[in-house]
Amino acid sequence: MVLCWIVSAQASLVTTVGASFEGREILATTYGYGSTEVLVISGTHGDEIEGVWLAESFMTDLAAKESEITEFSIHIIPRLNPDGIAKMQRGNARNVDLNRNFAEGWSAANQRGFSTGSAPLSEPETAALREFILARPGIKRILSIHAPLNMLDFDGEEGKRLAQLMAERNGMRVATVGYPTPGSLGKFCQAFRIPLVTMELPRGGEKNAIWQRHQAAIWAFIGG
Ligand SMILES: [Zn+2]
Repeated sequence: MVLCWIVSAQASLVTTVGASFEGREILATTYGYGSTEVLVISGTHGDEIEGVWLAESFMTDLAAKESEITEFSIHIIPRLNPDGIAKMQRGNARNVDLNRNFAEGWSAANQRGFSTGSAPLSEPETAALREFILARPGIKRILSIHAPLNMLDFDGEEGKRLAQLMAERNGMRVATVGYPTPGSLGKFCQAFRIPLVTMELPRGGEKNAIWQRHQAAIWAFIGG
């Protein structure tokens, strides 16, 4: 028997990042084979579906344009917290805020009413994301999509520049959240010197309208 593999040279690559506490798979899809790696994450908080919609709309756009992506490898993790998304809650299955569970600056104290976990990186979702990033030293910048604060937050000077670039396209304000975020992805990115933009969408809106409003900003972030 002859096995015939027909594989498109432009096919996207799906990678397992890890599994959630309840065993749901966390997936990354990579588009393009270029040397500049960029990572987009959404669904960190399970009750912020607007961000998941935006990332998944971007994936649809990338799939249509894949043959044009020569300079970049664009990794998308649209549902970092699949248990939280299934339960429509901010935290994961144990109700831990994954964006306070990184090791950098971690605090044992609850943050704004949410557990930070029993220890730094106690949650499988956080640990898996950390491994995914550190295994790819080519990642030049990270975009993390949240809701509902309606602003572009940043970590690092380069993060600020990228946030301003995005703001020129979508009219959002560039600002910082104004309260402490120990153990956040931002603190991790500061420690590893990876520019991060945290995009806070406004609450609500229809999926396609969200994409139409923000697609130019997303592409500006990718291009740097
Ligand atoms: Zn969030």
